[in-house]
Amino acid sequence: RAKAAGRSMVRLFEAPMQQEADTRLLLERGLREALESDAGQGQLALHFQPQLDRDGRLLGAEALLRWRHPQHGELPPGVFIPLAEETGLIHALGAWVIAEACARLKAWERDGVAFHGRLAINVSAWQLAHPHFAMQLEQQVRAAGIVPGQLTLELTESALLQDFEGTLAMLQRLVGAGFHLALDDFGVGYSSLSYLQRLPLDVIKIDRAFVSGLAPTDTDPLASFIVDVAHRLDIATVAEGVETEAQRQVLVALGCDGLQGYLICRPVDDAGFRRWLAEYERTLPAPSAVGNDAM
Ligand code: C2E
Ligand code: MG
Ligand code: MG
Ligand code: MG
Repeated sequence: RAKAAGRSMVRLFEAPMQQEADTRLLLERGLREALESDAGQGQLALHFQPQLDRDGRLLGAEALLRWRHPQHGELPPGVFIPLAEETGLIHALGAWVIAEACARLKAWERDGVAFHGRLAINVSAWQLAHPHFAMQLEQQVRAAGIVPGQLTLELTESALLQDFEGTLAMLQRLVGAGFHLALDDFGVGYSSLSYLQRLPLDVIKIDRAFVSGLAPTDTDPLASFIVDVAHRLDIATVAEGVETEAQRQVLVALGCDGLQGYLICRPVDDAGFRRWLAEYERTLPAPSAVGNDAM
């Protein structure tokens, strides 16, 4: 009896772990299938979220990956990106994102969609650590007929934790080729100010967690510190997760250069983004005399 109870106890404790392992295996297989163009047709998609400057002019958009699992429906990137990283699938997935981002830019150009901004793609630390990442990115972009300057690579600080010098050299090569760099999720991670000085960054993205904590006053010391440090280093700031008009006003008062969040638009699919752009064109603020000096 005791033995049986013990066994069922063991089973009780093992069940969730076993279940978790099964789920992981299922998702891993699913992701592999989704990446194989035939079997996975249409499961993966990029959604787009616009970024505006303080005067409401379009700076660009961020591409956000979506996976619609045939059984489980849409899964959040917070679930399947870590899985892809652990299984090594992130390299194929990242290559898919790059190819798709280039294809969208090309299609917008072909269809006369007025997107005069930069498209930002998220690049995982694991991708950056791959010795062939830069070469493959350059090849993909060239093959697609895209100019590197049309793309911004969003990196997180975790990408810098290992082999900073090696990563820096690669990033300098990419910037030399014309790509733009943004440091994602700034303000909540392991940021070291010395990184900021050494990295060839165009943009620092102030993390959503940080934005949502903004007091409704334009003297918020930490936020204004980030914006000031960035500007002294000639780096623009874009706030992510801007949900309220009050947050927008505080950020603008602080001197933040760009805004991204539900207040402006949720991430939307290609069709939704085209509709948003058309609407934006209709309500465009009068063009400034200086012309389009987008970042
Ligand atoms: P991230 O790069 O910081 O992207 C911003 C996240 O904030 C997105 O979540 C976006 O949907 C969400 N967001 C934007 N505005 C608001 C807002 O006003 N309020 C709130 N509550 N959320 C907002 P999402 O799409 O779930 O992506 C989560 C993370 O997954 C991304 O964070 C990024 O780190 C990662 N990710 C997404 N796509 C890719 C990709 O193609 N490759 C890689 N490596 N990572 C990706
Ligand atoms: Mg991002
Ligand atoms: Mg971010
Ligand atoms: Mg974030």
